[in-house]
Formats: sequence, C-alpha cells, structure tokens
Amino acid sequence: MVDTKYGQRKVTNITLADASDGIDLQAWGSPVKEQLQEENCYRITDLIVKVYDDKKYLNTTSNSRVTAIPDMPDIVNKTVETRETFKNMTVTSIQITSKRSCSVCSKAIETEPNENLITIRCLSCNFKQKIQDLPVKVQATIYLNSEEGVQKKIQANNHVLTNFLKTNDKLHLIRNTDAFEDFIIGQSVFDLLLDSGNLISIEPVIRMSSV
Ligand SMILES: [Zn+2]
Repeated sequence: MVDTKYGQRKVTNITLADASDGIDLQAWGSPVKEQLQEENCYRITDLIVKVYDDKKYLNTTSNSRVTAIPDMPDIVNKTVETRETFKNMTVTSIQITSKRSCSVCSKAIETEPNENLITIRCLSCNFKQKIQDLPVKVQATIYLNSEEGVQKKIQANNHVLTNFLKTNDKLHLIRNTDAFEDFIIGQSVFDLLLDSGNLISIEPVIRMSSV
C-alpha cells in the first residue's frame, strides 16, 4: 500500500516486454492487474510514463483498459538476452557528482554551498525546505581496466550507486562524494553487470587468500 493524495492505494509492479525492449508497469489500485497473466499478450490503453531514479516506468491511469490480443512473436526476454558481465575490472579513475533535488517535486536544485543558508525555495514548485533534508542524487563516471588491459568507461546512475552503498553498508558516503570516490578506488577490483550497455550492478571482488 502507498499513501497518495487520494488516500491509501495499492500498487503492483509488473514487467512488460515487446519485440524491442522491456519496461516495468506500476498498476495503481485498478482492475488492470487482475486482468493480466504472465506470458500472455495484451493491449493496454492510457498509460503514462514516470521517471524515478533515472529509470522509466509505465503507470496505469483511471482510464487504462486491458484487451487480450493474440500472442506476438519475438518478445524480448530482457533478463536473458541483453545482459553482459565483466569480471575482475580494476578502477583506474572515477568522478562522482551529486545533485540535491526538491523533496516535493523532485526537480534538481542548484544550490551553491553556503554555510549561512539553512533553507531554500524550489524554483520549480515554490516550496521552501531545509537544505539538509533535500534528497541527494549521485552519478559517477568510472574508468576500469580488465586484466587483459581493455579499458571500459561506464556511467553509474543514482539507483546503482545507492544499491552499491547499501550492500557495502556505506550509505552515509552518498553525502560525501570525495570519500565515496576514495572508497571505490580503494576497493579496486569489481565485477560489472550491464544490460544493453547500462550498468545494473557493480560488485567488489573479494580476493580469497590462498592457504
Ligand atoms: Zn520543487
């Protein structure tokens, strides 16, 4: 259940795919969810696209209607066909940038660091809020080398970096990009999982000491 301005609504996450790609659908309290069965094909009307953490989601609206259609050929099996793994990659250089965003409308807030400033007004939605409470979004550009000397440049979005910090119990580094960069360079060796060229996860390689 999720609290919305219309009260508590139930949301269900469903993954959809067509011949070119896959996308997650958030079905809001509507009968849409009950009409969908895995592996079947449907036409769904009046969906809207929303973006959270740099990822696109389809959302149902109160006008969304579901019609079953005959099976389509060539449905993308996203998790199987487009994922690539790069093992034992060494980080050679990294740059992490962070942006504060509005806690009301999620638009980026450009604030110059100023110790006297405690609150700020969002120029998009006009709500005033405490600077220290603003959500922070980070992005990284990372250069890595494979053991064979092949260089790879990757972009890591907020979602991937936040998951990385959570699994390594270092979430506090999200507000200290300098220490975050040092932490990644200090880990040195990583396994990368990419989907259609986009970074899905970055895992430090634990070197087992030989006995
Ligand atoms: Zn705002």
